[in-house]
Amino acid sequence: MALKDLFVKPNQKKKKYATIPTETAKNDVPEGIMTKCPSCKKIMYTKELAKNFKVCLHCGHHFQMNSRERIDSFLDENSFEEINENMISKNPLDFPDYLEKLEKDRQKSKLNEAVVTGIGTVNGNRIVLAIMDASFRMGSMGSVVGEKITLAIEKADELSVPFIIFTASGGARMQEGALSLMQMAKTSVALKRFSENGGLIISMMTYPTTGGVSASFASLGDFNFAEPEALIGFAGRRVIEQSIREELPADFQTAEFLLKHGQLDAIISRLELVDKITNILEIHQPGGELEW
Ligand SMILES: [Zn+2]
Repeated sequence: MALKDLFVKPNQKKKKYATIPTETAKNDVPEGIMTKCPSCKKIMYTKELAKNFKVCLHCGHHFQMNSRERIDSFLDENSFEEINENMISKNPLDFPDYLEKLEKDRQKSKLNEAVVTGIGTVNGNRIVLAIMDASFRMGSMGSVVGEKITLAIEKADELSVPFIIFTASGGARMQEGALSLMQMAKTSVALKRFSENGGLIISMMTYPTTGGVSASFASLGDFNFAEPEALIGFAGRRVIEQSIREELPADFQTAEFLLKHGQLDAIISRLELVDKITNILEIHQPGGELEW
């Protein structure tokens, strides 16, 4: 008897599971030096990719960026001053293993939570910035994320400077239940107040912006922008297909689809982002002119 017969019953059919390649398996080129583009499959020097704001040199695919990379690529050098960086989540619902998971993510991402907030300048224009980071709990929105974003909006109000947010999130944080959902209302109220005081809000949706985040602050900007091919949506494709019993178009929930249907103001490539945002910031200053 062969060894494998001990494990497989003769008539058992092989189950058909979709195999999702792991990040390392997908990247079948020497790690570090070279990077393979998941979109066009071409290989390039990681250093050159980084210099190009992590935009593929061949097809323009936007690789995911963490909050540190965003700050470095978007703000003027050394202008960022972080606020509320030490705020950390508790476990209000006593959700099993939640604190351990938070600790693991803190070590792995070197972040205390899934959003980084602070003050900085873009070509000399002062702003308050919030950047969600998918490397911490998939950028999910817990109480601390909501609180830090709210405090950042209030800081922008206090300083009378524009508020810019980069979103990247899997949605509400399930380990915080209803408290997580409350953050949608809290951040929305803060934005409304800021807006009534004349504040400028720019939202930049990046891959992926989903769930309660897409349904609250991500969509409440005076300008709602997205990066090319960003996944933006509320519920997942399968859930929607099952409930409406219709097949959805292939490009459903992409930035391009949302732009075509009037839910976005523009799709902006990372390579042009600083120039375009600078323009918007400058036309909103007294005497500003548009050079879009
Ligand atoms: Zn590519």
